[in-house]
Amino acid sequence: MSEVSNTAHHSTNDLSILQAMAAHGHENVQFFHDEETGLKAIIAVHDTTLGPSLGGTRMWPYATEAEALHDVLRLSRGMTYKAAISGLAQGGGKAVIIGNSRTDKSEALFRAFGRCVNRMGGSYITAEDVGMDEENMAWVRQETSYVTGLPQAMGGSGDPSPYTALGVYMSMKASMKYRTGSDSLEGKKIAIQGAGHVASYLAKHLQKEGAKLFISDIYDEKAQKLAGDVGAQVVQPEKILSLAVDILSPCALGGVINDETLPDLACELIVGGANNILWDEVSHGQALKDKDILFAPDYVVNAGGIINISNEIGGYNPEKATEQTKAIYYTLLEVFEYASKKNMTPNLASNELVEQRLKAAKK
Ligand code: NAD
Repeated sequence: MSEVSNTAHHSTNDLSILQAMAAHGHENVQFFHDEETGLKAIIAVHDTTLGPSLGGTRMWPYATEAEALHDVLRLSRGMTYKAAISGLAQGGGKAVIIGNSRTDKSEALFRAFGRCVNRMGGSYITAEDVGMDEENMAWVRQETSYVTGLPQAMGGSGDPSPYTALGVYMSMKASMKYRTGSDSLEGKKIAIQGAGHVASYLAKHLQKEGAKLFISDIYDEKAQKLAGDVGAQVVQPEKILSLAVDILSPCALGGVINDETLPDLACELIVGGANNILWDEVSHGQALKDKDILFAPDYVVNAGGIINISNEIGGYNPEKATEQTKAIYYTLLEVFEYASKKNMTPNLASNELVEQRLKAAKK
């Protein structure tokens, strides 16, 4: 196995990698290649001021190395912000394996990857992300203990989506409280985009509270099934974003608030489980503010999953994970209040709070 650290990556593009790292303050980026298994992986540690970096491994058939690098730098930085705003003693990191998750998986490949994680010496703790599954993570675990988010059968915390959904639900209540003075969701119209894991658990909390739900999925049978379970109305995927509702909840994909969708939005609040809901966090955050739509920053809202897996480190306690996830309610209120005081968009206000926390911790 060969390992190329950023500082040893001479020849053509070392300067651009270092420049990319410097632009957003990344601490360490390691490139790994394993001849025998064909493993090609990058591990990026963005910031360890608050603790060891934590973040999932994504397996994706990136067309170029530059694309993979761009993704791992962006995602690892996002993890720093998510952990810091949630009050975790954890930094941000991420790994990517360049490969096709349908055709390139093998035990040998994931064990080789596990050895790469181990060589990071605990500065990076991995977990499951897109393209990975529990069996793959179990192979990684054979080679390193720096793994979290493991199946319950392996002593881990299992599926994080119930915690993510609980955090989204608490965020809806906090946003409603901030907007109206009451956090009740009874009778409120809520449109959920996506009928997957997070949406399913979320919809059950909302049904219990008596919200009026609208659900869409590109797979009609998924939308029908969830709608049947929670007494919701199914909406065509192309209509869900423009429904006149109290809350719009993107729980499928990122980037759904963009130049095309913005003019038709007819909601009061946007509170969703998806990552990077705004296509552009500056201009589209501002456009929402101008339309008087309250946007709850996604990495604050959807931190329940990482809060849960961070609890696995040092002995998992589901009650503690639940209480910490519920506290997203207060974190979000703090973000809204700070944004209002500084006349900023909530997403940029949240970034500023994180940067202050990191700066204070560095001192
Ligand atoms: P999932 O794959 O179970 O569900 C996503 C659903 O969205 C699928 O049913 C899919 O068919 C549907 N979908 C895709 N495109 C759509 C469209 N255009 N319109 C309507 N539906 C569409 O994923 P999940 O685990 O529920 O995660 C949902 C989102 O939340 C993702 O963006 C994920 O990155 C994010 N997230 C998840 C967690 C977690 O704990 N699972 C944590 C943080 C963030």
